[in-house]
Amino acid sequence: MKISGWSGRKITQLSMFGLPLLLAGAALLGIFPFADGGPLSFGDHRPRVVLDPGHGADELGATFNGLIERDSNLDMARRVGDMLTRAGIDVVYTRTDDGRAFHDRRSLSDYSATFADLDARIAIANDADADLFVSIHSNAFPDPEARGIEVIYNPDRPFSERNRVLAESIRSNIVAALEAHRVEVPSNMTLSEAGMADAAGHVTPFFVLGPERELTREEMDERGGDWEALGYGRHASIQTQATRMPGVLLELLYISNEADADLLRDDSARHYMAQGIAEGIKQALRTR
Ligand SMILES: [Zn+2]
Repeated sequence: MKISGWSGRKITQLSMFGLPLLLAGAALLGIFPFADGGPLSFGDHRPRVVLDPGHGADELGATFNGLIERDSNLDMARRVGDMLTRAGIDVVYTRTDDGRAFHDRRSLSDYSATFADLDARIAIANDADADLFVSIHSNAFPDPEARGIEVIYNPDRPFSERNRVLAESIRSNIVAALEAHRVEVPSNMTLSEAGMADAAGHVTPFFVLGPERELTREEMDERGGDWEALGYGRHASIQTQATRMPGVLLELLYISNEADADLLRDDSARHYMAQGIAEGIKQALRTR
């Protein structure tokens, strides 16, 4: 998914400075991504993390350069989940196959399948009473030069500071994990964004990141979103849900960029990136 109002040019400019700044920041904060040893200890409480592989079923997400986001997201989630499990963390997935997270047989006449699917992901996280929620995606953009990693959090909902810390922790650890293996990725940012646009420029909120509130058709119109296309039909407003735990949405590279797509096709790079994500999650669990 691409971010609304975000130009490829902006990304290129920032990419020149992002990495040195990041490394300086990491040094300053004493972040050593792979210095961690062994399972986390939280006393009686075993930490639980929900991993949400974006998209599912006929909703493929971005498809470029021979990659299908739906499948790439699931593979990354599994890699991260295996690493977290080995570290003694409970892992709950919102989907474990290429289908939707939404499985019940309720009528979809009032909701689009996509909206029901997003709602189901939030419900799974809340039912699991998880400590953190991490949605895994890859990005795409009309400008094929756009590339890099972003982690998005929503500041307009509970846990805004912890959302930011989680986002930054995941972002910096992925970059460090790749750096440790001499792979540089540009344009690494943590974004406080609550909206996204599809390839046609239709804007929708990041529903998996909340907030829990009423979204009116009027507001969606103002943002350039297509109420009908999203399947909200005759409703004047819909109620968006929110996870009851800190959450972020990771955009792991741009599959519309050839260099990024090469990394996403590379088994070793995927392994390192999964290590970075897992380490970022563990770091955020430690600092709560
Ligand atoms: Zn996506």
